[in-house]
Amino acid sequence: MSVKERLKELEALQSVDLQILELQKAGEAYPKRLAELDAELGAARAAAEAERARLADNEKARRDKDAEITSEKDKTKKWEARLAEMRTTREYAALAREIDISKKAILNLEEENKALLETAIAIKTALADKEAELRRREDGSAAERAELSEKVGTLSGQVRELNEKRAEVAKAADPELVSRYDVVRKKRGSGVVAVVNGICKGCNMRLPPQLQNILRSGATIEYCPSCLRLIYAAEIMKD
Ligand SMILES: [Zn+2]
Repeated sequence: MSVKERLKELEALQSVDLQILELQKAGEAYPKRLAELDAELGAARAAAEAERARLADNEKARRDKDAEITSEKDKTKKWEARLAEMRTTREYAALAREIDISKKAILNLEEENKALLETAIAIKTALADKEAELRRREDGSAAERAELSEKVGTLSGQVRELNEKRAEVAKAADPELVSRYDVVRKKRGSGVVAVVNGICKGCNMRLPPQLQNILRSGATIEYCPSCLRLIYAAEIMKD
């Protein structure tokens, strides 16, 4: 088999490898996008959850206030019932003062409860917004996820086919050359390149004139001393 034929087989192999590489690179965007969707969804979920927690806190605070108001009112009622039993003016005045303090406390508590109720209304509005946003994201991301997983499926099918093709192409090529080619390709993405005007097209280094002469003779396949790719003079591949 001539050098030219062996090179053509390597080039065929590399063309399949480059297609596989391109597909794999395209595929890298999908998991990244999925992670972004997860993060956005997580943030929307956390925002809704935070409002729900604020509402629960508010409701508990209102229940506590209600309980305080009830107990304060009970106390006032008991004291009012006892007013008539007071023997002296001093005792009466003292209890009346307690009742007064308690009634003022009730008024304060009721004011506080009103403020809490207003806050609750604001929280409910915010919660509704956050939940709507979450649903919007869930619906949107479900559609995009389906699209992404379809793309992943198509892509892995294509890669599988190309890998089968690669195995066939590799079988036809010189096994020793293929293994040398593979070592460089795995590191650099390509394993065999042309030399044009004395320049390696893989790494753009100028080759020593002696090596250029050897390549031009077309008798052997050489390495680039700089990038270690398999090289050949472009002109020997011309028909
Ligand atoms: Zn090179």
